[in-house]
Amino acid sequence: MRTTDYLIIGSGVSGLATALHLQALGKVTILTKGTLKGANDYWDQGGLAAVLTKEDRFKKHIEDTLEAGALHGNRDSIRTMVEHAPKVFRFLESLGLSFKKEPFAEVGHTEKRVWRTSDFTGQDIFVQLLKHVQKSKSIEILENADAVELIERNERCDGAFARFGDKAELEPIIAKQTILATGGLGRLFERSDNPRGAAGDGIALAVNAGLEPQDMEFIQFHPTALALPQDERYFTFSEAFRVFGAKVVDAQGRAFLEDYDKRAELAPRDVLSRIIQLERTNGNVFLDMRYFNPKELKSNFPEVVKRLKPLGFDLTKSMVPIVPVEHFCCGGVPVNLQGETKLPGLSAVGEVAYTGVHGASLLPSNSLLESLVFAEAIGKAMERRHPLDRERVVDSQTPLAAPQVVVEEAHQVKAYALRIAQILSSRVGIVRTPENLRLALKEITEIPARDYRIQRRQLVAYKMIQACIARPESLGCHYMAKDII
Ligand SMILES: Cc1cc2nc3c(=O)[nH]c(=O)nc-3n(C[C@H](O)[C@H](O)[C@H](O)COP(=O)(O)OP(=O)(O)OC[C@H]3O[C@@H](n4cnc5c(N)ncnc54)[C@H](O)[C@@H]3O)c2cc1C
Repeated sequence: MRTTDYLIIGSGVSGLATALHLQALGKVTILTKGTLKGANDYWDQGGLAAVLTKEDRFKKHIEDTLEAGALHGNRDSIRTMVEHAPKVFRFLESLGLSFKKEPFAEVGHTEKRVWRTSDFTGQDIFVQLLKHVQKSKSIEILENADAVELIERNERCDGAFARFGDKAELEPIIAKQTILATGGLGRLFERSDNPRGAAGDGIALAVNAGLEPQDMEFIQFHPTALALPQDERYFTFSEAFRVFGAKVVDAQGRAFLEDYDKRAELAPRDVLSRIIQLERTNGNVFLDMRYFNPKELKSNFPEVVKRLKPLGFDLTKSMVPIVPVEHFCCGGVPVNLQGETKLPGLSAVGEVAYTGVHGASLLPSNSLLESLVFAEAIGKAMERRHPLDRERVVDSQTPLAAPQVVVEEAHQVKAYALRIAQILSSRVGIVRTPENLRLALKEITEIPARDYRIQRRQLVAYKMIQACIARPESLGCHYMAKDII
């Protein structure tokens, strides 16, 4: 039987950062469903929010975060996140990351406080964390390892059963502490900028272990994704483009956002997603950067320019078609400020966790920060309990009966996943109605899910719809149609 001290499920920024904070305490095993490339962070553009200038104040970042989350966030968790940001920043610098000298402005932030290494900051952070993880003697990474069920014994979590590659049987991995770092759930929807692995698995693992997710109705859609998916994934143009002056226009090139909201391009993501979705019923919507100085565009967004070229887009010559896509789940598995869930032995970090910092909608550039702050908090908490964990003997001798799972043909799995995506996108998307939510619940329940991957999707979708139904009023990114934009 495989054994480890710390089992981390997920190899995105959250999982990798947690691993680095735990490496001194014992053996760390990271499971990742696909390959190491399958993390969101490869496409992250925006940056990392942190109060580091003398003009800025923690209080302002706290208020901006609360405001963006429609005052639904937890002030204590937000304060913890904001006040630990400088430490996270120093941690990243100690790993060799070098940030630009000046912070950037970002939609929703009342001060310039978004720090970038390049126009793909998330990717830079991911790559640097990975480099250090791969150098570590106490961390191992197991790729193509799908965590399917948590191991529960004596009312605590003792690791997880995983499916390696195409094998039919599940293998137990016994651990003293298990950490969910499985990311978001965007790929439950038809359109998302999330990577393939982001299907809410961590939520399903937790629910099957008796935990209830929280705030699952708050799904944020990103308004400005390129309307041409690559490998089914959508490329989002970060807020930086709109802050830089990009206009949202119709096919005639007319900027129309001000007709709806005087903040126009600088309105929050939720508002813009609703407007753009509505306007798309009249025809395509575009992002217009044709009047940008080509040199400035290239020097500010070199990586974006490079990535769009092979797709045939020259941003200074043609408008780019855009569409809102699922971007971020503000809810998740509830944890305390040490990242612990209610199930002893199980913690959660990153997008899968519910720390309460995002409230009813995410403030851009706060999510990488949340991941990194709470990864460190888990490290600290585990350090405190290390003497206890070191003494504790976890039974790795008694054979465990692995759960039997049904594995269907890829095309069947794809067809059911598509059905779930259609239901969620048409009924539980940017604009919701009580009738659609009721129908969605019925339709999701009726899907004859046999394959374990479809059962997982069905369960997470069910929890999301249930949460939407439980909140009949609009709040943040949960928008009920009876209200006006
Ligand atoms: C396009 C895009 C741009 C973004 N830009 C920014 C930004 O600029 N600033 C910011 O702060 N935030 C940004 N975000 C949000 C931020 O990237 C995410 O919140 C963050 O990456 C979440 O990190 P994570 O480690 O929790 O999850 P992820 O990075 O998604 O990693 C999850 C990992 O879990 C693995 N996994 C999932 N299920 C299983 C399973 N069953 N078994 C084993 N492994 C599993 C996956 O394979 C993956 O390795 C962006 C997100 C996207 C999609």
